[in-house]
Amino acid sequence: MKNEWYISNKRMINDQIISRGITDQTVIRAMSKISRELFVTDANKSFAYVDTPLPIGCKQTISQPYIVALMTELCHLNRDSTVLEIGTGSGYQTAVLAEIARSVYSVELIPELYDRASILLDSLGYKNILLKCDDGYRGWFENAPFDAIIVTAAPEYIPDPFIEQLKTGGRLVIPVGAFFQRLFCITKLAEGIKKEKIIDVRFVPLISGS
Ligand code: SAH
Repeated sequence: MKNEWYISNKRMINDQIISRGITDQTVIRAMSKISRELFVTDANKSFAYVDTPLPIGCKQTISQPYIVALMTELCHLNRDSTVLEIGTGSGYQTAVLAEIARSVYSVELIPELYDRASILLDSLGYKNILLKCDDGYRGWFENAPFDAIIVTAAPEYIPDPFIEQLKTGGRLVIPVGAFFQRLFCITKLAEGIKKEKIIDVRFVPLISGS
């Protein structure tokens, strides 16, 4: 039987994702499969499919569904991709990536959020996710190079390790700025980088951990 959450998710996909121009079927399929209510706190369950970011504790937020879809689409992932996420948070974006890519690495600075996401993603049976509790400014050198790096908190500048740890042809999707931010998609080319501005956004800051 289709439950209430299923219907809310279907409506979210139609009204917030497809109608705003997301066309990548792998992204639409992944988000259709994942129950977003599992990733929000009890107090916010009834808002799980609303068009907004939501608090997840520790002064952090789960991103607005459309932004998750847009950033995932910009990563250009497929079944063979290896992707690094900086800022695991609730683990929702991590799960979306894991539905599409071969391997997902994700780094979270705050131990409480790392613990919660580890337990939840394990319980959902994902075998292609590896999490680490650490300062994401360094990327994850041991598992580089990546086909894509997605950053879900905003630094004021683009940290060098993110570019260094991309494959040639790889894509970095990152909000940059202090109070107001811009979402950029940066492609690493043999002869340098190509930087595209996507939209204005509001993210929590990427905290300097070291
Ligand atoms: N992708 C998340 C969004 C979480 S908000 C989701 O879908 O829920 C951004 C996250 O980045 C927060 O959990 C925050 O703790 C984390 N973060 C902030 N600074 C960080 C850093 N230097 N390294 C790793 N994670 C960081």
